Amino acid sequence: MERDTGKNEEAAFASMTTKSSEPAKGLRAAIVPVTPFQQNCTLLWDGSSMAGAVIDPGGDLDQIHKAIDELGVKVEKIIITHGHIDHAGGASDLKSALGVEIEGPHTADRFLLDNLAKQGAAYGIPAKPVTPDRWLEEGDTLSIGGHEFEVLHCPGHSPGSVVLVNHAHRLVIMGDVLFQGSIGRTDFPYGDHDALISAIKTKLLKLGDDYTFICGHGPTSTIGAERRGNPFLT
Ligand SMILES: [Zn+2]
Ligand SMILES: [Zn+2]
Repeated sequence: MERDTGKNEEAAFASMTTKSSEPAKGLRAAIVPVTPFQQNCTLLWDGSSMAGAVIDPGGDLDQIHKAIDELGVKVEKIIITHGHIDHAGGASDLKSALGVEIEGPHTADRFLLDNLAKQGAAYGIPAKPVTPDRWLEEGDTLSIGGHEFEVLHCPGHSPGSVVLVNHAHRLVIMGDVLFQGSIGRTDFPYGDHDALISAIKTKLLKLGDDYTFICGHGPTSTIGAERRGNPFLT
């Protein structure tokens, strides 16, 4: 579940067909749009060792497996940014298929992960509940293909949303916190608009303007572009 689209949700969906690869040295990325929400399931891996992670496998596992095989990524873990179905719905099955552990999100999203089958039924998407092997907290670090990421806890869109930052390559895995020209929607019973804006301003905008981010839906952007032009942050 995605960004704050205001009332024009159809148009927003139409623009969510992103394919990109990050040419960051040594750290490679590929995006596989999954589920009817066109969520940017992201493969991140080290270009030399090919070791890497699948981030937010919401569903359409056949397409994720195909990308893994075609790119030759040796998947060492699964990472979940938050507990929404389009991000976590396929995590349990992918874990079984690959035999790897799951890291994230923050434990405040446990109720959403416990609830995935019900979330799926509401949208006609098959999904299983999942329990991560490791919950993430503010200030934790995790490794993807030998590259270190800092964990920022950024609640608001969901209580347990996490953002992952690789300072060496200035790359951010954003989930549904901040988008190109938008922010995560907060019209859920557990949503918190003020918390979301506070997390963006106090944690994300502190990063340099040249940090590129891959978000859960739509095109990639940079912190600088959103600092200057995002209408939700002015
Ligand atoms: Zn989403
Ligand atoms: Zn979401």
